[in-house]
Amino acid sequence: MKKRTKILATVGPASDTIEQLERMILAGVNVFRMNFSHGSHEYHSAVLTLIRQAMKNTGLIVGVLQDISGPKIRVGKLEKHFFLKNGDILEFVYDDVIGKKSSEGHYVVSINQKEILDKMKVGEQIYLCDGNIRAEVTQVDGAVTTVIKNSGKLSSNKGINFPNTHIGIDILTQKDRKDMLWGVENGVDFMAISFVQSASDMQNARAIVESHGGTQQLFAKIEKFDAVENIDEIIEACDGIMVARGDLGIEVPYYEVPAIQKKIIKKANEASKPVITATQMLLSMTESETATRAEISDIANAVLDGTDAVMLSEESAIGHDPVLAVETMFNTIRASEKMYAYDKFSNFSMNDEMDVIDESAVLLADNLNATALLALTTSGQSAKKLARYRPKKAILAIMHDERVARSLSIVWGVVPAFVVEESTLESMMGQVIKRGLQNSVLEREGCYVLTAGDPVGVAGTTNSIRILRQHEMQHFESI
Ligand code: PGA
Ligand code: MN
Repeated sequence: MKKRTKILATVGPASDTIEQLERMILAGVNVFRMNFSHGSHEYHSAVLTLIRQAMKNTGLIVGVLQDISGPKIRVGKLEKHFFLKNGDILEFVYDDVIGKKSSEGHYVVSINQKEILDKMKVGEQIYLCDGNIRAEVTQVDGAVTTVIKNSGKLSSNKGINFPNTHIGIDILTQKDRKDMLWGVENGVDFMAISFVQSASDMQNARAIVESHGGTQQLFAKIEKFDAVENIDEIIEACDGIMVARGDLGIEVPYYEVPAIQKKIIKKANEASKPVITATQMLLSMTESETATRAEISDIANAVLDGTDAVMLSEESAIGHDPVLAVETMFNTIRASEKMYAYDKFSNFSMNDEMDVIDESAVLLADNLNATALLALTTSGQSAKKLARYRPKKAILAIMHDERVARSLSIVWGVVPAFVVEESTLESMMGQVIKRGLQNSVLEREGCYVLTAGDPVGVAGTTNSIRILRQHEMQHFESI
């Protein structure tokens, strides 16, 4: 059991070769993120083929998360970059114009999602260039006129955030819909939906995926102030959460991000939905050999908060040494898990029988000093429920479907061990013990606490706990 917290790494030009991908998997990557804000379908198809090959070559299970770019709002093209100073006037116009300085000395630009201009009100703040430039709306007739309050350099196609404006638009663009079809056709494991505002955005995303026959796990990226307000309904509607701190730190004052991170992680843990902490975790390693102490501390704190996974973005996509970034993350996780507050993860509310069984199984495993928990799971749900208690013992998940194995790659502490055929519980136990001993996942002298559903193969029926010691193992091995 090397580490419990999972690592996601974004693939890009610095990591899109078979050698790099294999090295990153061996260094501890559990899930690769494919960022659909960049790259063509041809590029992503080629990368996916390489990831699958790397998985075969290393014999390890990794998941693939497709990050759907969503309505990233951007300024149009500029004649040349502007140095905007406090007090300068910046006008957003409805026409498609090349941004330039007008004869009155105003800066005039267009944006890619014009319907947002209709929603602007006087006094609202607009942020440009990752929040570096702030402008305040002073007038909204025909065009949106703003005055610069925080200066900076603006160049073509830079991102814009509207932290005071309920945008309320359909967040899934035509491009996103095409990308989602690609994701279903190519069998990605997870899709992350950007700029989610409410549960209905997740429901719409799920309807699109299902209309193509997809069963992908859908993650909501929390990066808008409305998403923070609507977090409960969003957690309910999604399969997992990403605390997307980059845009979130513009949408809300960035000093509020740590408290929001902790709150969201706690709620996701409670709901046994996997949660990813993302962005700038090792940013300085994009260029440097070593991380800052603050970055190492950030990873450690996310681990101790109870995040399921930590994520690398540009560090692994365009950084100078993606493998070193993964190793640094791995070592930091290992060091932090030495002081993991396992006991903090209890007192969850019980909603169904599965909750009770899984809590009892964790307690049994601890009290019996078991070697590991074995979760025989159809949908993966009961492995996730075991994980919410953050047991000290390994959680070995055994399922009937390779896709479920990959979907558990992102869940804290769960080792997707191997796949067995569906049959009666008795004969499945035989398969589990034989396979487990054969490939050294199980030890002959070990003691295991197994949870399963009987009848087998029906999701949500976990209703039995078995304690497996040497003599039971011998029995099942012989049948
Ligand atoms: P992005 O999302 O990298 O797709 O912008 C993550 C974030 O905003 O933190
Ligand atoms: Mn973002």
